[in-house]
Amino acid sequence: MSKILVTGGTGYIGSHTVVELLNAGHEAVIIDNLSNSEAAVLDGIEQITGKRPPFYQEDVRNRTAVQGIFTDHPDISAVIHFAAFKAVGESVMKPLAYYGNNLDSTINLLECMLAANVPFFVFSSSCTVYGQPDELPVSESAPIKQAESPYGNTKQMCEDILRNVAAATELQAISLRYFNPVGAHESALIGELPRGVPNNLMPFITQTAIGKREKLTVFGDDYNTPDGSGVRDYIHVVDLAKAHVKACERLIAGDNKKSIEFFNLGTGRGYSVLEVIRAFERVNGVKLNYVIGPRRAGDIEKVYADTSLSNNELGWKAELGLDEMVASAWKWEQRLGS
Ligand code: NAD
Ligand code: UDP
Repeated sequence: MSKILVTGGTGYIGSHTVVELLNAGHEAVIIDNLSNSEAAVLDGIEQITGKRPPFYQEDVRNRTAVQGIFTDHPDISAVIHFAAFKAVGESVMKPLAYYGNNLDSTINLLECMLAANVPFFVFSSSCTVYGQPDELPVSESAPIKQAESPYGNTKQMCEDILRNVAAATELQAISLRYFNPVGAHESALIGELPRGVPNNLMPFITQTAIGKREKLTVFGDDYNTPDGSGVRDYIHVVDLAKAHVKACERLIAGDNKKSIEFFNLGTGRGYSVLEVIRAFERVNGVKLNYVIGPRRAGDIEKVYADTSLSNNELGWKAELGLDEMVASAWKWEQRLGS
């Protein structure tokens, strides 16, 4: 059993990961400034697990605050770093806010960890680092493409920072490259809380189904895919969360093969936008109002993961399919709407 510091632990993926850490018998300590989440998430975590982790409402860029956590909890073994801004479109409008938050939080955290002799670090990266890959499924050794947005660039830059720091210090890091996280905990006690109009497909679908949005626009049906709509590798957030537990355990056990490792987290299977819509309608018995519109600027055509490295090395495999993803997303939206 280990104690893990989770930054951004009241956020969407962070909260599900805290639940899986506690379910696996570990302890969690959360730091989050609530810039994109709510303290009530802690109630959801407690209802699911029966445990309420220590919570620090602080900014990860605040040196004194982060140092204070390591002083309060000298038995922290590893850190999972979720805290970041994540809206691609907003990052184009506010690049300095994104570089400032995403880079400074990572640098401050690394400095505080290393000063506290905590060498194990798990990072939230993204398949956006691959851009439109030349080969599919895309493996971890695929070339990193020029980032499409300041947000995507912060993920690439953080990976570079980790590479350099792992080469120079005791740091042992795992960078997890998420494909498209969707869905919610089956209890519907925690889930995604999109602010404003969602950019992502799944919250747009559920908000349309419940009547918060008039209609969903399918961004393009003229791609080189079986039905013409864009293809992504959607992954259930609970599966994603479990991979973080595996990553921490791998580092703490000393099972990692290099001081920095990269793993794809996806199911390995791509679904088109129209397939997701059809699954949502079939599984939930709900009719969705949608129209076909033009392509969205900056979108890639298709991407899905080669998961063999995470399956074989990390000992993790996604277990939940598209039906569970759309069912849990809908259950969560209904709870939010109630
Ligand atoms: P989220 O916004 O729900 O969670 C991030 C949390 O971090 C929020 O609770 C926010 O309040 C907090 N936070 C942000 N900046 C902070 C700071 N400086 N100090 C303290 N807390 C801060 O986002 P999420 O979807 O859970 O994403 C978690 C991580 O995964 C992010 O790094 C994101 O870039 C990455 N990621 C997400 C996706 C996705 O589709 N959701 C895909 C790939 C990668
Ligand atoms: N998409 C869509 N309508 C929407 C939102 C998304 O057709 O309102 C499509 C988008 O073009 C892409 C897929 O759904 O093909 C997933 O988009 P999302 O923004 O969720 O993830 P990303 O593009 O970042 O992989």
